[in-house]
Amino acid sequence: MSDSKRDTIAVRTGIATDTQHQAVVPPLYLSTNYTFPEFGSVPKYDYARGGNPTRTHLETALAEMEGGAGAVVTSCGMSAINLLVSLLDSDDLIIAPHDCYGGTYRLFDSRAKKGAFSVEFIDQSDADALSTALARKPKLILIETPSNPLLRVVDIADICEKAHKVGAWVAVDNTFLSPVLQQPLALGADFVIHSTTKYINGHSDSVGGAVIARDAELAENLAWWGNCIGATGNAFDSYMTLRGLRTLGARMRQHEQSAAQVLEYLLTESAVRKIFHPSLKEHPGHEIALKQQAGFGGMLSFELDADLEGLKTFLGALKLFSLAESLGGVESLVTHPGSMTHRAMSDEAQAEAGLAPTLLRLSVGLEDPQDLVADLQHAFRTLEEATS
Ligand code: PLP
Repeated sequence: MSDSKRDTIAVRTGIATDTQHQAVVPPLYLSTNYTFPEFGSVPKYDYARGGNPTRTHLETALAEMEGGAGAVVTSCGMSAINLLVSLLDSDDLIIAPHDCYGGTYRLFDSRAKKGAFSVEFIDQSDADALSTALARKPKLILIETPSNPLLRVVDIADICEKAHKVGAWVAVDNTFLSPVLQQPLALGADFVIHSTTKYINGHSDSVGGAVIARDAELAENLAWWGNCIGATGNAFDSYMTLRGLRTLGARMRQHEQSAAQVLEYLLTESAVRKIFHPSLKEHPGHEIALKQQAGFGGMLSFELDADLEGLKTFLGALKLFSLAESLGGVESLVTHPGSMTHRAMSDEAQAEAGLAPTLLRLSVGLEDPQDLVADLQHAFRTLEEATS
């Protein structure tokens, strides 16, 4: 599917479908319940946990953009992942990346401790670790590529091929790139997961998630579980997310261009110890990213060459990068994963995942990229003055 086709789906889904008043933008249906036409006749929508016309538009758009058979929109990204693992039994094994999003780590670890399933966290780019894990016949491989926060890239098609040989499903968390820059189902994955809170909504004003399934039967099964456990998203958030989705293509292209400019500048700064971005030739996942991604996205991470006091000075000097969690909004953000997004991981787990104490993650927004570079320059000069 071409980029423009995805843009068209995002913009047009639900447009001019209102038969009551011919509204161009589909109306927001807040009603929790729907009238039965007559005794014994169940309407398409009866109760909003199970289905809602506003949510359906968003589900249709996401399923089509990812090339799936169906989608379930959930109350947040974590409930999307929780919904997916509702398909598992207690003797099933999940293989997840050792550097996955901290909340995913916490969910799998906590549920596994309660006996819901087993989990093993591995470095999925390590071929030996992957084949040892696959020999244990897992039910589900969760991939997060590029990973959060180190932007490690793994080969989706290769993992899918190996996973399918042992009968495992593959789910890809596509939050960092969105369907505009990566299409995991076309590479063989069975499920795509999103925290729509991020790029898909794109305006940092609604929390949501989605699971998209390649196969219609799995999509139906997910919809059943979504209603059963009450994981589904509400109408208002679906409305907001669909509104954000309409500009996803244009936003992603600009996020990417601006991130490239910020990266170019960071490469010139001596107080940057290490920089993580798949566009860099020396990035271990560069070749795979070129093969499987339609772009490098708007996220990057770097290690600041400073102690924790210096880190504090640097962060305090930034004006256009707000110190906040989350990512993918129009506004630029800086995050310290160790004390923010990944604080649910123990120090040992953080170290094992390669998260250095001065690692910073940038979500490059849609401000003028020259202003963003000037803001970073100012923070680096402030750090320099404070430490000289
Ligand atoms: N997956 C990734 C890659 C994330 O970064 C996040 C949140 O930051 C989530 C899932 C969870 O999403 P939510 O915060 O919408 O529950």
